[in-house]
Amino acid sequence: MFTASKLLALLASLFATVLLALVIVAPRGEAETPGPSSPPIAALNFASFHEAISGHQIVDGQHQEEVLRVANTIPPELQPALKGTEFVNGCHPWTTKELGDCAFGTYDPAGWDSDDTHGHEWANTIWISSQAVRTGKVPDVVLHEVGHAVVHNLFDDCYFPKQAEATVKELLLQNFTHGDADPAELLADAFVVAFSTHSDEVHTYYFEQFNFEVSRAVILKVRAAVWLCSK
Ligand SMILES: [Zn+2]
Repeated sequence: MFTASKLLALLASLFATVLLALVIVAPRGEAETPGPSSPPIAALNFASFHEAISGHQIVDGQHQEEVLRVANTIPPELQPALKGTEFVNGCHPWTTKELGDCAFGTYDPAGWDSDDTHGHEWANTIWISSQAVRTGKVPDVVLHEVGHAVVHNLFDDCYFPKQAEATVKELLLQNFTHGDADPAELLADAFVVAFSTHSDEVHTYYFEQFNFEVSRAVILKVRAAVWLCSK
């Protein structure tokens, strides 16, 4: 039987897991020029956005143009997951509070604030810090965060043929089980390997941190899932 307190504990742990899944701390790479078929991602209405959250002094904006330029290099096959997603140069409020530092990148589907409330104006955003821009790793940081968006928006209600017992998200995560690392973070790093277009060594913070090796077969499975679930 499920008591109310057990249910609350379960919900709290689920909540924490979901939030943690949205956080990333690193990446490395060079930008590619935008593909001819990818429509430009519209510039953020920065003034109103800044006004909305300026109390937290978290929107930097110094590198907003560079962040948008990289956002426009996102491969077209990943763009169905980014309907209405805006890119912000700054430190995400909830992540900053949680880490005690500005994360390189955060994907936030629900608009989380530092006081653990959500539904704020910055729902459906990807945040990229100025520090990430200065390292030159933004293309890979962006791909990692876009990976979170793809999993969240496309893989949760999508099924491989003849595998109706589990969603694509659940089946893919099984390939990233690890004693210490969050499988959702490893899966997001797989997007960097699968979709990076630069010729430098890709930066995959979680793969490196946890010495995780991803097979070519799993990368192909991730690509196939994107193809299947974005239709
Ligand atoms: Zn992440």
